This record gives sequence, C-alpha cells and structure tokens, in this order.
Amino acid sequence: MMGAMIKSFYAETENLKPENIFSVSIMPCTAKKFEQQRDEMTQKGIADVDAVLTTRELAKLIRLFNIDMDNLEPELADSPLGTRSSAGKIFGTSGGVMEAALRTTYAKITGKEMKKFKIHEVRGHKGRKEANLKIGEINLGVAVVSGLKEAETLLQEIREGRDDIHFIEVMACPGGCIAGGGQPINSKPKAIKSRMKSLYEIDEKESIKVSHRNPSIIEIYQQYLGKPLSAKSHELLHTTYTKRYNILL
Ligand code: SF4
Repeated sequence: MMGAMIKSFYAETENLKPENIFSVSIMPCTAKKFEQQRDEMTQKGIADVDAVLTTRELAKLIRLFNIDMDNLEPELADSPLGTRSSAGKIFGTSGGVMEAALRTTYAKITGKEMKKFKIHEVRGHKGRKEANLKIGEINLGVAVVSGLKEAETLLQEIREGRDDIHFIEVMACPGGCIAGGGQPINSKPKAIKSRMKSLYEIDEKESIKVSHRNPSIIEIYQQYLGKPLSAKSHELLHTTYTKRYNILL
C-alpha cells in the first residue's frame, strides 16, 4: 500500500516521475520479496515497490557499515505520508490489525471514539482469540488466528456451519509479523513476547491511536483517494489472488 501511494500520490505531490523513484520496503516478512514481484502490484508496468529488505538484512547492513545506532540524530519521517498512528504500528502483532480496525469501526458505528483504546480480548499470545463485542446496537463476532494451522481449524468450523463470526484476522506467522520469517532466526518465545509488549507500549504513549485521525490518512483521502472503497482506492490499495496449485495437507 505504501509503495502504491509513493509511486502515485507522493510522486504527483512532489512532481516526480514514478519511474524515477526507487522505493525500498523494510519488512519483517520474507514473503514480501515474492509480493514485490507480483504483476498485480504494478501500475502501468512500474512496480509499486522496487526492492524489499527484511529486518534481518537491515540489521546485517547496519553491522556491515558499522553504523552506531545509539549516536544517530533522530529525524522525522518525510511528509506527506510521514505521520503514523499507533493503530498502524500494532499491526505487527497478532490481534493488532483487528484492534486497529475495531477502533475505527467503533467510531464509524457510534459516532464517538472509544474511551480506552484497548481491546483485551484480541490481545495476547494464544493462537486463537475470539470475542463477541457489542458496538452500538450491533453484536460483532470476531476471531483472530495466527499460524496457518489455527486458520485451517477455524475455517473448517465455519465450513461446518459456524456463523457467529463476522470478522477474522489471519496472520500466517504464529504471533504475527513480530515473529515473521524476515526477523532474527531462532528468536526465543521471550523475545517475541517482548516485541509484542513493546508495540503495546508504543501504542500507550502515542497521541494518535486511530487511523481515521491520522492527518496523513485524512489528507490522502481528501486530496487523492476520495473515500474508503472509492474506485481509486480499490485500484491502488486492493489486490486479488488466483489459485495456483493445491497443497496437499
Ligand atoms: S504474519 Fe508472517 S507472513 Fe504474514 S505478513 Fe506478517 S511476517 Fe509476513
């Protein structure tokens, strides 16, 4: 998504040609290296993202070039697109995408913000978390699974008739991107837990906790995308998948 916005909205705002931008995405995920090459993630033949580095590779580069992280001057991110809400930051942990989406869902349904932006039911280390939440007059069933085995089990229950879940978050990696394939190899469970804890601590401290109050997001929709699910946002921010082969389980 960020790649698509850089090569479209950012390029137009800064009067740059998309083909003259080289965009590098640093991710906790080895699968993003494949995703970068997907035809669906190009616009007029130009890739949304030109290269993907995993966090592990970034750490190697930092060591290779003897970069002293402790003594680097902090810098603000470039704008536009430079402001991040903590709703986006907690995406890194299992349950984070769900919690971020529910914060905005709550505001859209009730017209008010949540008093406390914490949804304990979708937090924690379990491979499956479920909750039934009352938002306004709506009872919303949600499920969060991480690890594809958990996803399989849940989908089987749904195939067999479960109909109390309206919204599901699936993370392929157990624990979410904090334990992604691009992260340090052989991370101990303690390290994964501490990454999860850090993300929630960041969320606790930050002032913008919902994406719909992020000035960068508001600006993008006002100036460029129109509204969520507009034709332009579909074109740039959504994708489709086709079945390639059957995996025998
Ligand atoms: S959960 Fe794993 S596979 Fe999915 S985006 Fe995160 S790191 Fe990649």
